Amino acid sequence: MFAVGHMSLAYLIGKLSSKLLGVTPNIPVLMVLSILPDIDIAIDTFAGLDIHRGPTHSLIVALIIFTPIFVFYGKRVVPYFLAYVSHFLIGDFLIGGQLQLLWPLLKNNFGFFEAGFLYIDIYDGINIAIELSLLLVAIAVMIKTCDYQVFFKKCKTNFVLIIPIVTVLLPTFLGYPFDVPLFAISPLIGVAHLFFLVLFGFSILNVTYAIIKKRF
Ligand SMILES: [Zn+2]
Repeated sequence: MFAVGHMSLAYLIGKLSSKLLGVTPNIPVLMVLSILPDIDIAIDTFAGLDIHRGPTHSLIVALIIFTPIFVFYGKRVVPYFLAYVSHFLIGDFLIGGQLQLLWPLLKNNFGFFEAGFLYIDIYDGINIAIELSLLLVAIAVMIKTCDYQVFFKKCKTNFVLIIPIVTVLLPTFLGYPFDVPLFAISPLIGVAHLFFLVLFGFSILNVTYAIIKKRF
């Protein structure tokens, strides 16, 4: 999946789980967690390794990282944990597969295709339709619940949005990690990325302006 699908999916799952548990998650943090597993793409590029869809896409590694956080914060962590694991247990599982979900216990690859179903490529029309549908549902829920307002609040935690801007939104327009710029691969996904880029960029500028104004 592209970032837009991962972030929309994580928002919807985080929202549903937090409603069931009666907790209030930080929405920008949910979205950032959903794209963090793909940090391995940067590791591969800069360290010359080949670990994409390996350790950072492992349920075992996720459980090891989140267990101490669960001990301290209890059920409030559930939406964040689900946002993180939704990346590989749903998004990448369906699209592309080839996941080392049980690394380091098992080095086998897992995915929808590996389970005996059809292979769905990230450029496939099915994936584009899934991602855009997730985005539209996420926008509808954000409007209905007024969650979109978080991006207009002068809240310092919104600075975490710099992570998706720098790691997945801006680079895709420059032809990274795909060989060609995103608009050339899928103009619709390009528009969706641009939507998040503008929204997140505005949010960061808004908080920065508020801090500067307070100081001077
Ligand atoms: Zn991934």
